[in-house]
Amino acid sequence: MIELCEVALPVPLRTTFTYVAPGSLASAAANGMRVVVPFRNRALVGVVVARAQAETRRDSVREISEVLDREPALTAALIALGRWVASYYLAPVGEVFRAMLPPVVEVRAVQELSRTAAGAEYVRELEALEERTDEERAEVAVLGAFSNEGEAIRAARLRRLGGGEGLIARLLRRGALEARVGARRRTRAAVEFESNAPAEWSPDAPRHALNSEQRGALDAVRADIAAGEFRVNLLHGVTGSGKTEVYLGAIEAALAAGGTALVLVPEIALTMALSRLLEARLGREAGVTVLHSALPDAERSAAWWAVRRGAGRVVVGTRSAVFAPLEGLGLVVVDEEQEASYKQEETPKYNGRDAALVRAKLEGAAVVLGSATPSLESYQNARRGKFRLLELPTRVGERPLAQVELVDLREEFRRTHSTRALGERLRASIAERLASGTQALILINRRGYSWFQLCRSCGAAVECRNCSIALTYHKRRGRLVCHYCAYSRPAPTACPKCSQKYMYFVGEGAEQVEEQLRAEFPRARIGRLDRDSVRTQQEYRKILGAFAAGELDLLVGTQMLAKGHDFHRVTLVGVVSADLALGLPDFRAAERTFQLLTQVAGRAGRGELHGDVLIQTHYPEHYAIQAGARQDYLAFFEKEAQFRRAMHYPPFAALANVIVRDRSIENAAKWARQLAGILGPEEERGLKVLGPAAAPLARLRGEHRLQFLVKSPRRTLLTQTLTRALDRCAEKGIPEGAVLVDVDPVGLM
Ligand code: ADP
Ligand code: ZN
Repeated sequence: MIELCEVALPVPLRTTFTYVAPGSLASAAANGMRVVVPFRNRALVGVVVARAQAETRRDSVREISEVLDREPALTAALIALGRWVASYYLAPVGEVFRAMLPPVVEVRAVQELSRTAAGAEYVRELEALEERTDEERAEVAVLGAFSNEGEAIRAARLRRLGGGEGLIARLLRRGALEARVGARRRTRAAVEFESNAPAEWSPDAPRHALNSEQRGALDAVRADIAAGEFRVNLLHGVTGSGKTEVYLGAIEAALAAGGTALVLVPEIALTMALSRLLEARLGREAGVTVLHSALPDAERSAAWWAVRRGAGRVVVGTRSAVFAPLEGLGLVVVDEEQEASYKQEETPKYNGRDAALVRAKLEGAAVVLGSATPSLESYQNARRGKFRLLELPTRVGERPLAQVELVDLREEFRRTHSTRALGERLRASIAERLASGTQALILINRRGYSWFQLCRSCGAAVECRNCSIALTYHKRRGRLVCHYCAYSRPAPTACPKCSQKYMYFVGEGAEQVEEQLRAEFPRARIGRLDRDSVRTQQEYRKILGAFAAGELDLLVGTQMLAKGHDFHRVTLVGVVSADLALGLPDFRAAERTFQLLTQVAGRAGRGELHGDVLIQTHYPEHYAIQAGARQDYLAFFEKEAQFRRAMHYPPFAALANVIVRDRSIENAAKWARQLAGILGPEEERGLKVLGPAAAPLARLRGEHRLQFLVKSPRRTLLTQTLTRALDRCAEKGIPEGAVLVDVDPVGLM
């Protein structure tokens, strides 16, 4: 009998791998420890997720080469959570655990080379020559550096011997050298870690006396925390209702009860303000710790271990922080729980909110999901009694919700015959704000200058070379850009298809709306907030800071504007077009539109000043726009729920989007047919399988894509079916990466 370790490795396979811990490491390699193991000529860092006794010959199993941790990186609860993510989302188990672990800063990969027998012979030949070229001299220097066959020398050292990368590559091709990748431990500098919550806050965190609605909600959550029980509270509070105060009170209660707290927010930018507020309120002892993927590796690792060792008791972070190694978890808060950014679009395609619920269940923690516009899924769960609904129906201080006016663009066009993005009504309202010295936010939910470039002669749009999507024009860069794969090219003067010179640009993006505003209001101070104008956290903070300080009159931008911000002098929010999302072939189009309108309307009138909202639209009668304008969540929910129920979409069915992809369209089509053969018979068990059909993005990054939608009345049926289907695909020799499964997709693009 020997003791085997199951190790999860960061490779795209749905299995773990078996290793044995050699004598000296036998007791060190416990569950949750990170280990270095050999894998296909490489050294990989994985994590031990199970140990078991087995009757096997020791020499048939490969050995762990190093144990990185003295205490397990992952707790038993986190290992269980990782296994849940892997099975629920059908994700490669090792990639799930890689997403859970801190960045590996303890070891670094080094490329090592050794000389082959052929290499030894070659260098003898070279040495026998009377005269040698420069290149041959360099080869002798490199190959002569090895004293015997087995010796391994780091590639970096060999490169310094002359000849550089090119020479080494040539010797590898010739078979004179052999490469392998090994891992070297770094001497770890002790990192003193207190808290990485930004320290430049001014302690102006007033403790508000809660109003009765806030108090009622907080009391309910406190009772759950005191009971130490898993329970999900859906905190449905209109914009400006003071949800943050409820979160703060609940976190205080969790800490007072000796527990820890996890707070998830949908965007990195929102971790700043919240962590500062928490630190001011809870003090340094709480060790408020920020975790997100944009932190430098060393800082992220230090922060992660501070939490692991118990110094950080409150974690504020984005999606991946759901795996923060807190122990004694008493409370989980998910702010803006409906946000699409909680869903990871790369493998593993988990939803941070749903993983948070499972985690809280595993650890007996209370949960608060907060939102002004809960997802259909969460609200339906509250309806069914699975979640407890807590409501904050009014704004704090009896401030009224903003007045929303719909501007019918069809009517404006009939009247003015102008096709400008900023209609007459909106321009007049902006002018009023400028005259009165208050501020306005202008939302245009498209990046770039023009949506695309079109040929008047043949009607073709200029498309991406790698994706079936029209390129977006960015004027300042002077290029057409793909928002999916980043391919770019100059805007052509003649049509690439028919060579006629009748190219024109269609549709206004944020860059163009900013330009129009500057032309219309030359004296106004105007800023822009989108992914093209702000690329770093500093730029982001700078522009928001300038707006908050009153140094800007108008701020134009994409949905980055709509989230979370609490500006007190904004008296107008203008929405350039409410319709952009509605045209997409996606069952969440109406929900997205409603959420965006409600959120953006929530940015107006948050201080003492009254706020107006103007929404330009071609479809003023659409229910998402109507309900968004009235900020009437229930009306929207009822209507949308009818549609989802009738169409068997979530929350009334479990949904998976399955994409079959390959560079060769023949392969993609063949595999899709095979998968259709596998999934088809499952319809007898109650599943609905739509497809294969061309995916909405039929080509992406050079790959052809076919799509299936799988709808199931029951979750377990969906998981079982897809698991079996993937196994069958593997048996048929369809490559692992060719079939992409997205369980609970947030978008079908
Ligand atoms: P929400 O997240 O629900 O939109 P916030 O939590 O941002 O709302 O609160 C809106 C504003 O109201 C903030 O400026 C906050 O400081 C303030 N606030 C919260 N609770 C109270 C209260 N009980 N009395 C007065 N002001 C409050
Ligand atoms: Zn592209």
